Amino acid sequence: MFKKNIELEAVNKDLKHFVYIASHDLQEPLRTMTNYLNILEEDYSESFDDEGKRLINVINRANTRMIDLIKGLLDYSRLGRGKEKLAEIDCNEMIAEILLDLESLINEKNVQIKYAKLPTIKGLKVEMRLLFHNLMTNGIKFCKEGKIPKIEIASTEDSDFWQFKVSDNGIGIEKKHQKNIFAIFNRLHSASEYQGTGIGLAHCQKIVELHHGRIWVESQPGHGSTFHFTIKKSIE
Ligand code: ADP
Repeated sequence: MFKKNIELEAVNKDLKHFVYIASHDLQEPLRTMTNYLNILEEDYSESFDDEGKRLINVINRANTRMIDLIKGLLDYSRLGRGKEKLAEIDCNEMIAEILLDLESLINEKNVQIKYAKLPTIKGLKVEMRLLFHNLMTNGIKFCKEGKIPKIEIASTEDSDFWQFKVSDNGIGIEKKHQKNIFAIFNRLHSASEYQGTGIGLAHCQKIVELHHGRIWVESQPGHGSTFHFTIKKSIE
């Protein structure tokens, strides 16, 4: 059993390293492509007919998407580095900061946000913030056009864990997808329907696991979703 754990840890380390190197090194050729695409657009666009311009546009969109995916992968591989940075986090303050970041989106969509008094926890600050940010922006994004998004955040506790929930009144998620949405790059909609890379919930899962907790969703299509997660109270 002990040997298996060591082997598993080694494989895991290799895999993390691979993801980091691959996503890091892939950025270089992508940067070159982006630069040359910009030159083509700026200096040569007059030489293209309509079909040529359309094709450049398609390549540009694919290039932007590739940049987003690779950045997501790189961020994923970096999560949890520097575990020594465990800090006291006042979740009320953290949510207030996130709301400031999201101000223009909130105003644009008239989003209603409610949160009860939340605890001060011990955790990784940047990661915890990303976790709440992802769940809140998903709640706003996956809402039916024309409906006012409503987000509610609350928490409970038992002797070992804090438990949080982030609820929305959005489009909901069918039962059969409720587990696999946490896998990397899994999406239930096309990018033209709802923008995104499919990496947000994978980030959330990894962050929760770094805090020795778990994450799951309860939802009914058409009746919103509630994402629950736990965070261990005493982590080192
Ligand atoms: P992204 O938001 O970039 O698509 P995520 O990993 O955050 O990627 O989410 C994966 C998929 O799970 C989304 O594409 C969407 O189909 C579904 N999903 C996530 N959050 C919600 C939500 N609050 N309501 C409905 N569907 C959701």
